[in-house]
Amino acid sequence: MILEANPSMEKELNPWLAAEARFDQAARLLNLDDGMRKVLSSPSRELRVSIPVTLDDGRLEVFTGYRVQHSIARGPAKGGIRFAPDVTLDEVLALASWMTWKCAVVNIPFGGGKGGVICDPRLLSELELERITRRYTAEIMDFIGPEIDVPAPDMNTNEQTMAWIMDTYSMHKRHTVTAVVTGKPLNLGGSLGRPEATGRGCMFVILQALKIFGWEPENTRVVIQGFGNVGGMAARLMSRRGFKIISIVEWDGAVYNKNGLDIEKLMQHRNETGSIAGFSEAEDMSKEDALFLDCDVLVPAAKENVITSQNAHRVRARILCEGANGPTTAVADSILAENRIFVIPDILANAGGVTVSYFEWVQDREGFFWNEELVNRRLEEIMNNSFRDVVAYAGKHQVDNRTAAYMVALDRVAFAIKRRGIYA
Ligand code: NAD
Repeated sequence: MILEANPSMEKELNPWLAAEARFDQAARLLNLDDGMRKVLSSPSRELRVSIPVTLDDGRLEVFTGYRVQHSIARGPAKGGIRFAPDVTLDEVLALASWMTWKCAVVNIPFGGGKGGVICDPRLLSELELERITRRYTAEIMDFIGPEIDVPAPDMNTNEQTMAWIMDTYSMHKRHTVTAVVTGKPLNLGGSLGRPEATGRGCMFVILQALKIFGWEPENTRVVIQGFGNVGGMAARLMSRRGFKIISIVEWDGAVYNKNGLDIEKLMQHRNETGSIAGFSEAEDMSKEDALFLDCDVLVPAAKENVITSQNAHRVRARILCEGANGPTTAVADSILAENRIFVIPDILANAGGVTVSYFEWVQDREGFFWNEELVNRRLEEIMNNSFRDVVAYAGKHQVDNRTAAYMVALDRVAFAIKRRGIYA
């Protein structure tokens, strides 16, 4: 289903329709023929598995898991595995295609994949989660591998989950295969710089955007929504780089200091009190107002559907850097464009994470590990090149940055498919 001109709010907030709308627009502008469009929108392989697990109380339960490989035209599939009660095959399919475009925008040799298990981790013990993870891995065993499909953490999974997957896979192969997943613990094939990579990548693309505007970090006022992995790291690194982080917005409120917040102290305050609210060196503020403060850069790094047709006209930043996946709806895109807001779209802005996952895979296969400085330098090079490619494409084709990012991605994947040719 394609998003019509004035969709209902329910349709506007449907991220899969939003992704489809953007795919469609890019495909049309690239003049992709119908056949290629069909290939690009058809997932390569989808697998559904039953996962029988003995629970701690002795009952036997059967969970359902999925793994989807949307495209392997440019290399092995790459994408996270989520554990959540509301996982659906449709969601996994959409997220897998998103990964194809993200990997293509940053030009790393991966296709897109995604996986999920329908379960509620809050109701499961650590041992139950381990058994689910190991049996799920055994069930998708023939489907994954360093050359085939390389999973990573996603919602409610973490480096421990990746260690269990790696161990299960390795037990079957009879030797240690670290490169089967990324996001592993350091010293178990993980990479330095991975936890900071997404926030750091956001900073690199923002620094590139600043050059276009002729601004310096010291005079740039930034508002960040989300003080978790992406937003917290972006805040910490950007404040070290001299940016003025004037507000941090969380689910339970926001804090504001017009001269810039001391991010390390704010982190300490949050660790001690469980909230950013009540920080002595800032004013408390409503989270709605903080998002629409007069600022230079807004970084939504919390969740999807934050900027919609209802509030996009209130954005007062000149640069919008999407740390989260899907924080802007497709309808809001045109309002931001009318207001000449420079958008750094999610598939580019938050691709630092998958880029360092790529480095982790490379290091595992080399058996030789890089120091953090090298990881960060190579990340910067990839983020800067990708930013340059997208902005140049936008200028050349007179489209906004998001459309350009999708066009670059589709073009790269379509090129690989054409050059390889259709087998049989
Ligand atoms: P996280 O859970 O570490 O952090 C999210 C933060 O946002 C939390 O502090 C949470 O309290 C806050 N939050 C939740 N709802 C909010 C609301 N309504 N208003 C303000 N704050 C709210 O998650 P994360 O890993 O930082 O991921 C954030 C986003 O970035 C997600 O969309 C994720 O898909 C995307 N992303 C993450 C990575 C990564 O490497 N972690 C990579 C690419 C994309």
